[in-house]
This record gives sequence, C-alpha cells and structure tokens, in this order.
Amino acid sequence: MKNQKYKTILNYLILVISALLLWGIFTTPVDQNQIPYSEMKQKIRSGAFSKVKLTEKLVVGELKDTRTKGQSDKVEKEDSQKSKVQSLASSSKTLVSTRLDNDPELIKLLDETATQYEVETKNTMLASLLYTILPLLLFFMFWTFAFRKAGPGSEMMRFGKSKGKVKAESDLKLTFDDVAGQDEAKEELNEIVEFLSEPERFTRLGGKLPKGILLVGPPGTGKTLLSKAVAGEAKVPFFHISGSEFVEMFVGVGAARVRDLFIQAKAKAPCIIFIDELDAVGKARGVGAFGGHDEREQTLNQLLVEMDGFDSKVGVIIMAATNRPETLDPALLRAGRFDRQVLVGRPDLKEREAILELHAKKVKLDNDVNLETVAKGTPGMVGADLANVVNEAALLAARSNAQAVHMKHFNDAVERILAGLEKKKRVINKHEKQIVAHHEAGHALIAALKNSTDKVHKISIVPRGVGALGYTLQLPTEDRYLMTKQELLNKIDVLLGGQASESIIFGDISTGASDDLSRATEIARSMVTQYGMGKTLGPATVERERNALYMDQSGASIGKNFSEETARQIDEEIKTIMKDRMTMVKALLTEKLVILKEIATTLLEKEVLDDEQFQAILTRHGILGSSSAA
Ligand code: ADP
Ligand code: MG
Ligand code: ZN
Repeated sequence: MKNQKYKTILNYLILVISALLLWGIFTTPVDQNQIPYSEMKQKIRSGAFSKVKLTEKLVVGELKDTRTKGQSDKVEKEDSQKSKVQSLASSSKTLVSTRLDNDPELIKLLDETATQYEVETKNTMLASLLYTILPLLLFFMFWTFAFRKAGPGSEMMRFGKSKGKVKAESDLKLTFDDVAGQDEAKEELNEIVEFLSEPERFTRLGGKLPKGILLVGPPGTGKTLLSKAVAGEAKVPFFHISGSEFVEMFVGVGAARVRDLFIQAKAKAPCIIFIDELDAVGKARGVGAFGGHDEREQTLNQLLVEMDGFDSKVGVIIMAATNRPETLDPALLRAGRFDRQVLVGRPDLKEREAILELHAKKVKLDNDVNLETVAKGTPGMVGADLANVVNEAALLAARSNAQAVHMKHFNDAVERILAGLEKKKRVINKHEKQIVAHHEAGHALIAALKNSTDKVHKISIVPRGVGALGYTLQLPTEDRYLMTKQELLNKIDVLLGGQASESIIFGDISTGASDDLSRATEIARSMVTQYGMGKTLGPATVERERNALYMDQSGASIGKNFSEETARQIDEEIKTIMKDRMTMVKALLTEKLVILKEIATTLLEKEVLDDEQFQAILTRHGILGSSSAA
C-alpha cells in the first residue's frame, strides 16, 4: 500500500518535471534580438559592439549605442526567471546569434576588429546539464517505471529473453533406472552419457560426436523421461524448452530466444539442451496451410544457424523429441544437426510389466495382484498410460477403503483408461439397447467363430465415453508384428459382424456401425495397396506412405504415384472384398442365429459379459471357444 502511494507520487513528479522541461525547450531564446549569424559577423566587422560574449551556443554582442534604460528593464523583469544566458540575450542593447560550432573565423574577426570579448562557460555547463542529461535521466526513470508497472512477470519484461523456464536444471536425480524397458534407446544414449561425463577422453583423439539426437516415438513413451535420465546419469545441466514456446507472437522473439538459449548453454557446457515438440518449430518450411509462418521459420533458421555454429567439442548436446518426424524440415535431419535418431517405441509385454512394476513400487499392493496379467491386458498402452493405470488403481482402492490395491482395482483402472469413464446414467431407449446388444453380439460371435487371434475379453452395452454405445473388447493373445492375409480378413469379418447382425435381426441397419465400416475398409485398402494381397493388382504396392512434404496447400496428397485406372481398380477391389465378406458373415450369423440371439438376450439382461460368461454360452451350443484356437 505504502509502496503504491510512493509510486503515484513519483509518477506525478515525473509528469511535472517533464512539463517544465518541455516548456523550457519551447521557450528558449527566440526573441526580437535574434539575428542571423551572417549579420552578427557583419556587425562585428563593422565594430558595432562594445563587447561580445561567447557562450557555447550563442554569440551575444552588446551594442555600442545604448537605448533607453526603461525598455531594457521591462524586458529584464519579464525574463527574470529565465537563465542568465537568456536574460542577457533578451536585453535590448544586445544582439544574439546562434554560434556556429568551432568557427575559427569568428575569433579571428574579433581579434582583428579589437572587440572586447569574453567566453562564458558556467552557464553553458548548467544548460547542457539541464538539456542533455536531465531528459535522459527522466527518460530512464519513465522507462523503468513503465516496466515496473507492467509487472515483473509480464511479457514486456521478458521480451527477447528466454523465459524463466529455460534456466538449467542442474541436479536431476533421474537415471536410466527410472526408465523401464527401452533398452535399445538406453544403449544408444549411453554413448552420449559417456561423452558428457568425460568430454576430453573423446575429443582427444579427434573423434566427432553427434550434436543432435532426435527421440522419435508416440506420446507418453518416455522421451522426456529418457532425456532427463541422460542428464541425470551424466550429471550435467539440463535446458528444457518446448518447441511451442519458441514460437511467439512477435516475429523475431523466437529467434532471439534460440540465440539466448545457446549462449547460456555454451557457458554451462557440458550440458544438454532438450527441445520438446520439435515439430512445433521444425515443420517443413513453406508448407503451412497459410503459406508459411514467418516467425516459426525465423526461429527454425536460427536453430539451424546455432547448430551449425558450434563445434561438438564444446560439449553441448542437443536432444529433441517428436512424434511426427515425417513433418520435420529435412534440413534439420542433415549431417551435423539431428543426424542421430533414436526410436522410443511402444512397450511390449515384458516392458509393460517392467513399467507397471516400477510405478507400483510407490503403492501398496495386495498379494492377489499379478502385474504380468495386467500387462497382458494392456497391449498398445504406453508408459504414461501404465503410470496412469497404477495411479488410478490406487485411487480406486482408496475410494473403497481397501487396505491395499487389489487386482480388481487394476482391472477397473485398465477398463476405465481403455474405454473412458462409464456413463451408466446415460439413458438409451429400449429399442436402441436392443440394437446395440445385437450389434455387439454379432461382433463377438464372429470373433469366436472365426477363431480370431484377438480373443473376446469382454462385451458390454454400457455406454462409455462420447460416441460408443457398446463395445466388444478384443485383446491380442500376444504382441503381433506380422499378420497373414487370413488374419486381416478375420478382422474385417469381426468388424462387419455388428452391422450384419443388425440387418438380419431388424431388417435394417443403424448409424452405429460407421466406425466399424471405416476401419474395415481401411484394412481392405491396406491389403490391396500396401500388402499386395489384391487379386488384380497382384504383389505390387501402389501407394506411397503419405508424407506431409508432398501435401499441397489444401492438404491433399499430391504424391499419388498411380494412374486413374489403377485408382479405379483399387476401389473396385476394396468393394469386392467388402461385399464378399459381408455376404459370408451374414450367412454365418444366419446359420448360428440361435446363439446370436442368446448372446444378445444375455447382454440385455446383464449389460456386461466377461470372458467366462461368453465362453459358457458358446460351450452350451457346442462351439469351442477361441481359447482353443491354435
Ligand atoms: P513423452 O515425452 O514420450 O511424451 P514422457 O517422458 O513425458 O513421455 O512420459 C510421461 C510419463 O510416463 C513419465 O513421467 C513416466 O511417469 C511415464 N513413463 C513413460 N515411459 C516410461 C518408462 N519407459 N518407464 C517408466 N515410466 C515411464
Ligand atoms: Mg514429453
Ligand atoms: Zn460395432
């Protein structure tokens, strides 16, 4: 409060002084006694002055023939408040002229005409002080005041400087032990750790080390974690900045920030600069929907300049992370930049278990918890999801006042994270429920009949999340890297099962199957265009990976490398596959109509069927469950 008052007073003070100063500037000697310099010299030459005073800025001549005293008194009274220079000048017996800088002629002239002259310095010093230093001082005061007013955390204060965040984190306690799995990535990064902890050992022999390492992988796989672990292992400072932070609203700020970051980093070498979301700055230049982004390009260019501009021997390692390497400007990936790429992929079964174990250390587990089973039930999940599963399980356990986290909490947590929160209260009418039940029963039955490798784990007609009204959860029995043609066809069949069932039972189809259909079509398309499984197109792949670099302004792929005729053939083949499969699936479901209806009825009654309940129905009808599939 007191401080505020002080500020206000200061504010007024500055205003008043500024006003006085301005007034002073505009009222400087401009009066009738002012004559041109040429005339002044003329007058000196003709000996008109009895005395001449030279100040720094002015030449003041006292005329020999003095006029009436009263007049000059009057003038002097008016000007009593002005400085001595001014009052001198405004006296009527004097004539004033602005002095030319260092005019040697003037002194010569005065000497020649034997005019009495003197040089005045005192006043000019005061004047110069008043007119040069004071404004500067005021300007400075005003400046700091304005910025103080804007607040210490405001954008104005940080203009062009790195945000507080870009300060180095110096004592990261993370090590490779805090990253479960990712053994290959760790192995590659270990070289960097060795270099950072002992740079001399490597550079002594003239070896060249990578400057830039790009971590590539889906979100949540531990890229940030790994880079911090590298810093922690090597015990070096860690500069962490996100690509999006570079791209500011003012053009040039991002580039300035990059410059500043590198200056700081070089001063702290050996160290690590980590640029998260590199794609935010590193997108290929001139590809944006609006014909490029000036600021981003400037920032990117500055980054390239900085990366080229230092020797890897200084010990600054630049790590970056992205989940969209294909969008990066190729210039970033050239030698001497991010030429080393480390894949940080989705964890497999063993790794998932390891990650779960790592995070479960922090919670109290009951003996019934089997993390291997949890890992089996979470294919496709990444480290961040699994950390979330453990946390969610612990929360569920706490909510039910359990002494420890049980297996059922883990199961619920997995489900919750897999399918979104249950929305039991959501009302769907009876008919809708019928449709959903038969739809899901169709998926499940086809999956069972086809001995699908993806075992039916759970069928539910409890609406979840936003769009899904029901779901059939199939989990792969193992992590798969290859699929046969038959397996792909099975996948299509299972996806079509829902709509086929609806059409058999109700003679009509609903909109609920659109996602199934698009996924099935996508599989069929890949079969034809990528895997060479089509009939007419044979074993050739006809479609390139879509690459952002080849996108035109409208975002459409212009990299198509096949003809219209081929395109037509592709469409034809996809249509044939889909039609054939649908006919087959409908026939199969019609044949097993009794079972289909029983599954649907049970679903309507229980809302959720688990693995065992589902198998029971199948066994009762003499169908061996998918568990017996080879
Ligand atoms: P990314 O940067 O790849 O998006 P993060 O490094 O931010 O992923 O991971 C987010 C969180 O997920 C981490 O803080 C960690 O808790 C967890 N996590 C991810 N991967 C792993 C892993 N391999 N081991 C242990 N925890 C992991
Ligand atoms: Mg990250
Ligand atoms: Zn469906």
